[in-house]
Amino acid sequence: MIDGSTQLTGIVGHPLTYTLSPLLHNTAFREAGLNWRYLPFPIEEAAFDLAIPALEALGFAGANVTIPFKERAVVYVDDLEGPAAKLKAVNTLLFSRGRVIGYNTDGAGFLSALEDASFRPDGKRAVIAGAGGAGKAAALALAAAGAAKIYLVNRSPERARGLQALIERSAPSAAVELALTEGDLRSAVSDSDLVVNATPVGMTGHADETGLANAGIRKGQLVYDLVYWPPQTPLLKEAGRVGAARINGLEMLLYQAAEAFTIWTGQQAPIQRMRAALTSEVRRRSAVGESP
Ligand code: NAP
Repeated sequence: MIDGSTQLTGIVGHPLTYTLSPLLHNTAFREAGLNWRYLPFPIEEAAFDLAIPALEALGFAGANVTIPFKERAVVYVDDLEGPAAKLKAVNTLLFSRGRVIGYNTDGAGFLSALEDASFRPDGKRAVIAGAGGAGKAAALALAAAGAAKIYLVNRSPERARGLQALIERSAPSAAVELALTEGDLRSAVSDSDLVVNATPVGMTGHADETGLANAGIRKGQLVYDLVYWPPQTPLLKEAGRVGAARINGLEMLLYQAAEAFTIWTGQQAPIQRMRAALTSEVRRRSAVGESP
């Protein structure tokens, strides 16, 4: 029951029509027996500057921030914790004793899904396509987890170079190489244990300018597509065809939410119940042809 002691959380972004975060968090709160709720706030760009101070003034316990506000939100944060400080982007806020603490749980969510698949990044070689928010979080997390080599693939070379410099500053033990031509991409994929897509390619309506699905992925590799809708992207279908292991973006979505839950409540997230809710909602949406 919602009453005077209900703790509020939510998500600020645009658009949020198909967000799965309320489902994940409200399932987790219910399962943990917490009188907490999670609400969607689809806010227009022009209204964003009011949003975080408003949530704080209304006594929210925390919030998620998503596209297109992850970087703009940093202005409203008093302390940036962990990877958020390096990425200069937040996806989770904690309102605590008059301060706004900013976190970025994407990298931890990315790594937890790898751990679930029994993939240990230390000493491994990886290709990452995409140098936007998700690509940066994944690359930095892999480098911090001891990856030996990271090949960066990106449509615009300047963004890839920026990410290379960021990794070299923050986790210098990882060797970083750019793979900007088709030939470079094929050798990078051939040399790697892990192939990651951190671009929207694979979502309906995005032409494949990464070339990843045709770059020679093979059995023995792990292919991780951060796109979570559709759950089976062309890249993952190709990985299945050649017998490579696969992870889809729903796992990262699940684990980044679990991290946020722990930041807000101090408790371990009920992962299995969250995954069950996610799986059943994805099945329902697929059956009725609903998609973002
Ligand atoms: P972003 O910051 O906008 O970055 C997008 C990246 O993709 C950029 O590197 C961009 O290259 C590249 N790109 C865009 N369209 C492309 C195309 N047609 N061909 C080749 N490259 C293209 O977005 P983001 O936040 O990083 O998100 C990227 C993807 O990851 C999205 O699909 C998002 O849904 C997914 N994601 C998933 C999770 C999860 O929990 N599973 C979390 C975050 C994001 P340029 O630099 O050349 O523009």
